[in-house]
Amino acid sequence: MLFRRGRESENVEDRRGGGFGGLSLGGRGIGIGTILLLLVGAYFGIDPRLILGLLGGGAPVQVTAPAHKPPANDPEARFVSMVLADTEDTWRALFQKAGRQYQDPHLVLFTGATQTACGLGRAAMGPFYCPPDQKVYIDLSFYDDLKQRFGVPGDFAQAYVIAHEIGHHVQNLLGISDKVQAARQRMGEAQANQLSVRLELQADCLAGVWAHHADRARQVLEKGDIEEGLRAASAIGDDRLQRRTQGYVVPESFTHGTSAQRVQWFKRGIETGSVAGCDTFQNSPL
Ligand SMILES: [Zn+2]
Repeated sequence: MLFRRGRESENVEDRRGGGFGGLSLGGRGIGIGTILLLLVGAYFGIDPRLILGLLGGGAPVQVTAPAHKPPANDPEARFVSMVLADTEDTWRALFQKAGRQYQDPHLVLFTGATQTACGLGRAAMGPFYCPPDQKVYIDLSFYDDLKQRFGVPGDFAQAYVIAHEIGHHVQNLLGISDKVQAARQRMGEAQANQLSVRLELQADCLAGVWAHHADRARQVLEKGDIEEGLRAASAIGDDRLQRRTQGYVVPESFTHGTSAQRVQWFKRGIETGSVAGCDTFQNSPL
């Protein structure tokens, strides 16, 4: 991926190292909560409201550190910042074309745990997007997991993770998240999970849409990048995660989609570059 000289975003909040809003909960230690989360196979990009029990709402907590560019000697943070900047350019243009205005989200770097408008965010939840404060939260140690536990190294895989979370931001701006959330409350658990899967697959597709346009405008993709992104999408499907963590698969409990579904929708986004083509809610069955 060719991001070495790209623009960096002004919207990165760095809460690492005990900065404002950072909470120390024993660093990256594994607790019971972590293990339970892993057991339900919910690892990547989980909707934090499901975990934090905030479905009924609650006053948003406003914790904002000043956003700035990460320091020059922090290549991983700078890479994330460049990916974020590219999503800003890409989505701003796409929204403009559709006669809408894109609002830049913030991206929060944290270690261990941090306060969010969705409750306490923990590294064990994997990167996530919190709709009420419009922020993406990531503990960069997730990238080590992606490499070591899921066997997916590479910068495009890392960019895909950010692009997926930004996909959730786009869903939020378009009012899709709210609609899904409202509908979920009127249904049983299996059906509600089905809707979550559709929301997640749409975020994968939107990540593909970003990659499509970023590459057309700035030729950011290198040979092998798309395969790398597909491997990441495939490695973190619910079926694979469940097999790895509990040894069997319970389709009704899927909230992110199978590996094959994730690959399929990511691919569709990359190939078509079309937001309308990401209508996972119209495709039944998926
Ligand atoms: Zn997600």
